[in-house]
Amino acid sequence: MIEVQDLTKLYGRVAAVSGISFDVAEGDIVGFLGPNGAGKTTTIRILTCYHPATSGEARIGGFDVFQQSMEVRRIVGYLPELTPLYPEMRPREYLRFRGKLRGLNRADCNAAIDRVAERCWITDMLDRPIGALSKGYKQRVGLADALLHNPRVLILDEPTVGLDPTQIRETRSLIRELAQDHTVMLSSHILPEVEATCQRIVIINKGHLVAAGTPDELRAQIAGDAETIVELKGAGGDLQAALEGLPGVSGVTTRPVGDWTLASVRAGGDPREQIFRLAGERGWALRELRRAGASLEDYFVKIVAQASNQARAE
Ligand code: ATP
Repeated sequence: MIEVQDLTKLYGRVAAVSGISFDVAEGDIVGFLGPNGAGKTTTIRILTCYHPATSGEARIGGFDVFQQSMEVRRIVGYLPELTPLYPEMRPREYLRFRGKLRGLNRADCNAAIDRVAERCWITDMLDRPIGALSKGYKQRVGLADALLHNPRVLILDEPTVGLDPTQIRETRSLIRELAQDHTVMLSSHILPEVEATCQRIVIINKGHLVAAGTPDELRAQIAGDAETIVELKGAGGDLQAALEGLPGVSGVTTRPVGDWTLASVRAGGDPREQIFRLAGERGWALRELRRAGASLEDYFVKIVAQASNQARAE
């Protein structure tokens, strides 16, 4: 649904985006993740036809964002990082004004407003001044605006920035709901945000694409560094050798904790099933078996640091 090929954007001599390529399949909900200044907003503005790229290609629904911007605008709903709302207007007036700009007639526009207001839980707020609404409600008015023309694709730039924890939770749940019948791409610099909402993640840093995949695929890339914690009783001196003998295990350390032994197992894959079976076969009591240190947060920090070091060395 979204195809980005070798996209570059230069601001003078600064490369905000450097040759990035990625795809978003129809119906996917994809997180576009990167630290501040990574190039997320620049990419999103290119995809939403706000400014042209310096080189490369981008298509949405098969339409070229440079050559066929009218077609792209028809199928894309865009929520910018800061929604430019008019505080003295009421959401209903604002949405009517936006509907008119998009060429909707009055009857269609009123029907669309009822539909998006219900979808974004703002029906009760439609006739209050926008200036009197909370940040969370303003954000929902922005989302309602993005949905007014019933787009197939929703592109959301930092949709929860500045919201309180309850509003963040509500916005995430709304986005997940919208993802049931839209392709969604959302940008964020907060990993848990993306992890909580998205099926796929594209990570960029300093304008370069550094990783892409499902959260599980990205986690698997650091699984080699991951540690498994095991707490067992009854194993005696056999434990260390038995754990070291399991396939894929590269290191084991053990220490006694009262009658129990706490072991840390380093392995290339996920050894938990084998450890569980081993304990069962040998009749050892097992009271803890968990993976440690394989969080996506670690991966994100590691990969961004690697990319920054590489850039410094070049
Ligand atoms: P943030 O999370 O802080 O919004 P971002 O990932 O969205 O960051 P961009 O806003 O796309 O990053 O910025 C990428 C780089 O391009 C930054 O170095 C930024 O300073 C630069 N940049 C962005 N817009 C312009 C502009 N209009 N003129 C010059 N440089 C710009």
